[in-house]
Amino acid sequence: MKFGGTSVEDARAMENVIGIVAKEQRRKPIVVLSAIAGATNTLLKSAHIALDGDLENAHAELNRLLERHVTLLENLISNRSEIQHLILTIRKRFDELKTLCQGIAILGELTNRSLDAIASVGEQLSTMILTHALAERGFAVEMVDARTFMITNDQFAAAAPDFVLISQEARARILPPIQAGKIVVTQGFIGSTRKGITTTLGRGGSDYSAAIIGAALDAEEIQIWTDVDGVLTADPRIAPAAMKLKVISFREASELAYFGAKVLHPSTILPAVEKNIPVIVLNSKRPQSTGTRIVGHPPKSSAAVKSIASKKGITVINIQSSRMLMAYGFLSAIFSVFQKHKTSVDLVSTSEVAVSLTIDNISNLEQIVSELQEFAEVSVFDQKAIVCVVGEQMRSTVGIVDRVFGALHDINVIMISQGASEINMSLVVDEDVVTQAVQQLHREFFEPVPELDLFEQVDA
Ligand code: ADP
Ligand code: ASP
Ligand code: MG
Repeated sequence: MKFGGTSVEDARAMENVIGIVAKEQRRKPIVVLSAIAGATNTLLKSAHIALDGDLENAHAELNRLLERHVTLLENLISNRSEIQHLILTIRKRFDELKTLCQGIAILGELTNRSLDAIASVGEQLSTMILTHALAERGFAVEMVDARTFMITNDQFAAAAPDFVLISQEARARILPPIQAGKIVVTQGFIGSTRKGITTTLGRGGSDYSAAIIGAALDAEEIQIWTDVDGVLTADPRIAPAAMKLKVISFREASELAYFGAKVLHPSTILPAVEKNIPVIVLNSKRPQSTGTRIVGHPPKSSAAVKSIASKKGITVINIQSSRMLMAYGFLSAIFSVFQKHKTSVDLVSTSEVAVSLTIDNISNLEQIVSELQEFAEVSVFDQKAIVCVVGEQMRSTVGIVDRVFGALHDINVIMISQGASEINMSLVVDEDVVTQAVQQLHREFFEPVPELDLFEQVDA
């Protein structure tokens, strides 16, 4: 059971979590928590402010976050001496954070390793508080530090889990308390290198943590508790009429997550697929809602398009070479440049004379372009966005392309790519029209509500 930031943001939200966990107690839950809403942002921000030399403001940010944790404690725990003891522990953690910020300010250097050490405190605090709240309410509970089993490489800020080691260690650390009848509470997002240095799996990584733990322990189910009713037909912040999907496939969920549906971290589905464990996305503010089930083989639905995702911050690279035209090895030459610079390519579309592709990580863009220029003409367009239309049944439905382009008749589509699996169609548009594009597509496919059992309207 993974609870995201808004699900633990204050005492009321935490009480909801306790109620939800209590109901599942019979099923031996492992509770994976994010930091309280906004905590990771604040922690990272204070480090950056310190780097700019503004220690006063860095400390002010940290003090506000400290106060939020203290308020949470005071509203959640009743035993006064317990509260005092916990406040002392939390203050100590914030003193350490301030010392770290001082170091950053003095050195004028901020590494991803330091950022991970700082960011990890959010999850450490939220889990500590929930564990005490559960214990005070009479639950048998044990907190297991994720860093004892979530072993990763040392690519700080985006560390890759070592699945073999994690499987061993997670079983060794988590199963004994579970077998002793305890609820286990642990941190999402954070891990550790083999040498014991704290890492993180990347922003939004708690979903991924939960899936990794679920797979390592052969869980019955991986529950992702968040602030919406499930996986919706679009981000409700963009398309307010978005509806909930009752069930979707692993493949559909993976595509959606990869192309920007923030409700799931892009890697969440992988571990679940390997062990064929259903992932259920649920709303912690409305636990009675049945959520979205993500499974290997959902019942066939006649809905061709199931959901629309979008992702900003995309850069398009056009590569053209008349010299290489039709020559074998052209694509391989191109991709080896991206491989060398550890930059993954999202969409590709080719014509006889050119290859267009998109990337979202531009940290090595300059070197990539200069190496491509050794054999091709290269142009780069930034501030683009991908819009992705997803549905297993798209491949067998006639007329989808017409409807997509009809809906986008007034929008300049820069690039088109139909996934080889044919369960998605991705388009590139200018970033400033992406909201409009998603809204128009949503209207085309989901407004008015299709008369299908798959969709469920979300209560306001
Ligand atoms: P958490 O803190 O629980 O991990 P996130 O903010 O990371 O929550 O993810 C939930 C948010 O994802 C929702 O509030 C919603 O705005 C956004 N979202 C984007 N696309 C979708 C979608 N297709 N279905 C549901 N939510 C989506
Ligand atoms: N707290 C982390 C973040 O904000 C991880 C997560 O919430 O999934 O990125
Ligand atoms: Mg999230």
